[in-house]
Amino acid sequence: MKNIVLFGPPGAGKGTQSERLIDKYKLIHLSTGDILRAERKEGTPLGQKANEYISKGELVPDDIVIGMVANKINENLDAKGFIFDGFPRTVTQGKALDEMLHKTGHPINKMLALEVDEDELTKRLLLRGETSGRADDQDEATIRNRFKVYNDETLPLKEFYKAQGKYYGVDGMNSIEMVFDDLCKHLD
Ligand code: AMP
Repeated sequence: MKNIVLFGPPGAGKGTQSERLIDKYKLIHLSTGDILRAERKEGTPLGQKANEYISKGELVPDDIVIGMVANKINENLDAKGFIFDGFPRTVTQGKALDEMLHKTGHPINKMLALEVDEDELTKRLLLRGETSGRADDQDEATIRNRFKVYNDETLPLKEFYKAQGKYYGVDGMNSIEMVFDDLCKHLD
């Protein structure tokens, strides 16, 4: 079983690369952002609550997201592995993920981190906002807040995985193809 955390700031290309990786390696794509947006679309109480945070670029509380991920893992115990995209986003989530996977006997193999500078990220997000319909990609203040939240709350996970010897940086400024090749080298 391969369990990979695909890490990086908003707009780094996690979703794009996840799609390709799951196709090649037959892994399950576990994107907490996608699950939350699906809940919101269905108008569930969870989705409505999540929207209060998503629309401001804030993080949805840990217990909600951890519960969602635990359900998804437990529904797929026979999977070849998972690509975790947009999760964990706090050290609390990272610790919870370690505990959940410890129970399955298949811990995280690697954290692959897409490294992209903020000017490029802003450009990509605004461009994506034109087609995705995602309100959080269309407003520069929300985008700036997402970077702040990323730097304050998510970036400490780099040290968390480094301490486990599992952190691998990948240059995310390259073309989609080149980034994909680099990621595959880490997975093969
Ligand atoms: P994403 O699609 O990963 O960019 O996530 C979009 C939004 O969903 C984020 O800005 C957060 O508001 C929320 N979200 C997604 N994943 C998480 C997570 N692991 N923890 C907390 N909030 C999350």
